[in-house]
Amino acid sequence: MTKRIFHSIFLVALAVLFASMVLIMGAVYNYFTATQFQQLQTQTTLAAQAVSNEGLAYFESLEDPEDCRITWIAADGTVLYDNRTDSDAMENHLAREEIQDALAGGYGKSARYSDTLMDRYLYTAQRLSDGTVLRLSTSQTSVLHLMVEMFQPILAVILIAVVLSLWLSSRVAKGIVKPLNELNLDDPLSNREYEEITPLLQRLDSQQQQLKSQEKAMYQKQKEFNTVTRALNEGLVLVSSGGVILSINPAAAKLLDVTPNCAGADFSVANRNRDIAALVNTALTGEKAERTLSLSFGEYQVTASPVKSKGHVLGVVLLLFDVTQKLRAEQLRREFTANVSHELKTPLHAISGYAELLKSGMVPQEDTRHFAEKIYAEAHRMIQLVEDTLRLSRLDEGAADMQWAPIDLYAAAQATVKELTAPAELESVSLKLEGSSTVIHGISQLVSSILFNLVDNAVKYNKHGGLVLIRVGSEHGRAILSVSDTGIGIPEDHLPRIFERFYRVDKSHSKEVGGTGLGLSIVKHAVLILGGSIEVDSTPGKGTIMTVYFPLSQT
Ligand code: ADP
Repeated sequence: MTKRIFHSIFLVALAVLFASMVLIMGAVYNYFTATQFQQLQTQTTLAAQAVSNEGLAYFESLEDPEDCRITWIAADGTVLYDNRTDSDAMENHLAREEIQDALAGGYGKSARYSDTLMDRYLYTAQRLSDGTVLRLSTSQTSVLHLMVEMFQPILAVILIAVVLSLWLSSRVAKGIVKPLNELNLDDPLSNREYEEITPLLQRLDSQQQQLKSQEKAMYQKQKEFNTVTRALNEGLVLVSSGGVILSINPAAAKLLDVTPNCAGADFSVANRNRDIAALVNTALTGEKAERTLSLSFGEYQVTASPVKSKGHVLGVVLLLFDVTQKLRAEQLRREFTANVSHELKTPLHAISGYAELLKSGMVPQEDTRHFAEKIYAEAHRMIQLVEDTLRLSRLDEGAADMQWAPIDLYAAAQATVKELTAPAELESVSLKLEGSSTVIHGISQLVSSILFNLVDNAVKYNKHGGLVLIRVGSEHGRAILSVSDTGIGIPEDHLPRIFERFYRVDKSHSKEVGGTGLGLSIVKHAVLILGGSIEVDSTPGKGTIMTVYFPLSQT
């Protein structure tokens, strides 16, 4: 821009310079011509008077004037005298403009160029009283001549003018552009230098305001998006059609083992998992790809979905869902179903076998009762198993339909003791309850179930004449329920597994005493739902202590 302004100013300056020179020279030239004519006319008038008085004698007495030519011409145009050329040799002058004018009006003047155009001649003529005409002429420098003569000074003036124009143009151009370069574009309306650019600045300002509000809205959206994706446990990655990571949430960064600020990096470079790369590549071709992959943090359902617009893939959304729990739950459910079927099969086979024997009539009359008792026992086992299974599945569902209420652990223990006194007596095991009223906030069915299973086990796995001691109390802000027995105890290596479903230390012994292998699973589940915890301390051959801690009721 500076260059353009500079060139314009420079050209204008040159044009003005040339125009001024031509005009000034023209005006000066005209002025001098008029002055010269004036002088020539005066001289002609004086000479005319002298010639009128003296005739030809005047010319003879005249000292030859160097810069002036005098010609005397008869009325018919014949040259009578000329101070430069022999008059006889001169052609008739009647046709000359100034002669014509003088003959007609008494006075005439004209100007003519020489053949070379280098000289110009001025002529003034006056008619004398005898009808002859006296003409004076003088040479005048022609414009061309003048220019040739003035060449050096003109050149000097031009050079000075050009240098001056160059310097001034450059300064002026810089001076005009400087404020433009120093415009405060952050606040366009604060610029007051040029009034002419105010509309432009106003436009800039309104566009800037628009951009700022758009930027703010985008920033807000981005913030919201980041907040949401940051809080997600699922991994989320947005990949552009060119395979560049546009956004990645912390969960995804952790799962893919990449830095959380890897947005902008090439996905195929940042990610080292080939299976995931293959899924993304498939999605980039426009096909949705899905697989369950084993990652370092567990099993993940990985889905790569293409984002399309008008048939073109704009990018890929990669989602990583943790399905470890789901798969584990499915696995457990399958195992549980298989175990239940297996557990039910044994008593069913036994019942079916005894019934078949009874049906065939091969059983003697006195053994019928024995067989009926066996069938009854097996059926009871089955009922027990089905009940425990149902209880457990209700607990699996979170016991949502059960009522929470203040429960006195001591009173509940008393009820359990009452319930199990008879079976304990059969085993010659005595039950003892110690402690005092301790109220927890819980679910009555679950508390009863915990107490029943623990005391039942303490009886079942006790020794003949053994003791079961139930203690209820509170300590460090917690309610404590402990059931200790003087029974067979549990070997240490079995301890971590006794709460698993269908796990028994001694399978045949458990079955013998009517165990289903689900009792402690129900206990553990119920304790967790009630917000408590359970500990086991056991010495094989000496006995076991099961201690349950519950949060105390706040009321
Ligand atoms: P079960 O119905 O077989 O008793 P549980 O889940 O109640 O099943 O107990 C799991 C296993 O833990 C039992 O089979 C038994 O081997 C062991 N067990 C549980 N309680 C006691 C205890 N008080 N003394 C010794 N062993 C026990």
